[in-house]
Amino acid sequence: MGGTFDPVHLGHLVTAEQARAELALDEVVFVPAGSPWQKVRDVTPAEHRYLMTVLATAANPWFSVSRIEIDARGPSYTVTTLRAVRREVDERSRAAGRPDDELFFITGADAILNILTWKDAHECLALATFVAATRPGHDLANLEREGLRDRVVQLDVPALAISSTDVRQRFAAGGAVRYLIPREVEEYVRKHGLYGTAGSGLAAAALP
Ligand code: NAP
Repeated sequence: MGGTFDPVHLGHLVTAEQARAELALDEVVFVPAGSPWQKVRDVTPAEHRYLMTVLATAANPWFSVSRIEIDARGPSYTVTTLRAVRREVDERSRAAGRPDDELFFITGADAILNILTWKDAHECLALATFVAATRPGHDLANLEREGLRDRVVQLDVPALAISSTDVRQRFAAGGAVRYLIPREVEEYVRKHGLYGTAGSGLAAAALP
């Protein structure tokens, strides 16, 4: 499951759980983007986004978080991640005598609509089945136009009415974020003064 997770919210967690149930997945690995090279806004440092994702997923035995893009140097390309994960999945499934294990890449539908601008887009589509998580009523006609409709699974997730942009704006405006993000993530944000919150002052030196 790829995303910037700036910050991770309950919509992401519901998406992951729904994908796990509907696609009968053994596990969901969250992969926070290290350096999202197509973003125009300033993205929160990767280590913060990684730690918030760990806090949000820690209690779910089927969820884990990968540092693969956080620890890589330079821009994050999904194709590089998928090549590495594909190798790992193939090795593990061979060892377990399950050569038919599949790999899915779950992310937001808006991101997938731009997939043809990604590095080695066609290789990405060959390495994994893409799962486009959409807010209800979202129109995926563009996928049709790009000839991608049969290569992408659509997942309607009502909880994706929550968005990271809205959560960031709420923090900045002193609004309520309860029930939109996990409590632990809210506390982390306030402790580190992210998204325009005051911060405790003590945590500032704790992270790069
Ligand atoms: P984005 O453009 O910030 O997000 C597009 C939409 O998808 C937003 O509405 C976003 O909502 C939603 N979204 C993002 N991740 C989601 C998830 N895991 N589950 C449900 N909804 C999600 O997209 P992004 O975060 O930058 O990129 C998404 C993924 O595509 C990342 O893994 C990124 O590395 C990959 N990507 C790869 C390339 C490349 O290889 N060249 C280029 C672009 C993106 P929220 O803001 O609420 O999350």
